Amino acid sequence: MTILDGKSLSNKIKEEVKQETKEIKKNGIIPGLAVILVGDNPASQTYVASKERSCITAGIFSEKIAMNIDASQERLIDKITKLNEDNSIHGILVQLPLPKQIDTNKILETINPKKDVDGFHMFNVGKLSIGNPSLVPCTPLGIMRILKEYDINPTGMDACVVGVSNIVGKPMINLLTNARATVTICHSKTKNLKNHTSKADLLIVGVGIPHVITEDMVKNGAIVIDVGINKMTCGKYKGKLVGDIDYENVSHKCSYITPVPGGVGPMTIAMLLKNTLTAARMSVK
Ligand code: NAP
Repeated sequence: MTILDGKSLSNKIKEEVKQETKEIKKNGIIPGLAVILVGDNPASQTYVASKERSCITAGIFSEKIAMNIDASQERLIDKITKLNEDNSIHGILVQLPLPKQIDTNKILETINPKKDVDGFHMFNVGKLSIGNPSLVPCTPLGIMRILKEYDINPTGMDACVVGVSNIVGKPMINLLTNARATVTICHSKTKNLKNHTSKADLLIVGVGIPHVITEDMVKNGAIVIDVGINKMTCGKYKGKLVGDIDYENVSHKCSYITPVPGGVGPMTIAMLLKNTLTAARMSVK
């Protein structure tokens, strides 16, 4: 069994981005990312701080815009519209989830698709689904990059994606279909989950339920990708982060597996930096 080391790979990609940023700066372009945070959700604050740190290390200009939890949708749209017109900003990211008074879809559609480094705008979602991707959501993009790094080609594989969120599962399904894997899609209403997961050569799980995938649900020799990040508040793993896969019992059955932490998570930020660089390059084309 090989552990798919997303942490090391993310460091390698960050170093690549740093070098590429140096090159692009020679042409007078300083890649810039604006991150908007509405409210004071502690998890969101941690993610935003981590994104800022990674930008600084890579030489990418980063601007954080903090708005009150009761900020109106109009104010947020106004802010995004200004950033759309700001030539020093190539990537705009609105940290989700947003407070209830704000329509998330409306906000995502306000971002200029060319600055949509999260890849959530319907224009970019559409481009991915027709097999002509531009800016692709960071987590599934990071998963494809992990597979590539370890010479795992999903073409022709029986893949199973569990979880169909717009952020993880759906773009993952499109990326795998574009790569010509045969994809089975599972969600909360799937009748017999094990029936599907246990047939998969490549199993990708982003559900948000600790250890929802147990040993008996995984095929011998499968490649297993765990997107879940669950902070445990009780039991054996109290205070620790665990994934959606029962790693301890599943890992000995697989050919490859991502750990939690240190698997998919670090790749998400690395791909955000990559997307920012891509957006900066697109701005001069
Ligand atoms: P989400 O929006 O809540 O989506 C969860 C998905 O899981 C939904 O499609 C849901 O189905 C499905 N689901 C729920 N219960 C299920 C069950 N018992 N069996 C099968 N499917 C089930 O979550 P998300 O934003 O995609 O995040 C999922 C997990 O990934 C979370 O732990 C999150 O923290 C983590 N995550 C990690 C990263 C990273 O960088 N590593 C990035 C994003 C998310 P329905 O659609 O039918 O409700």
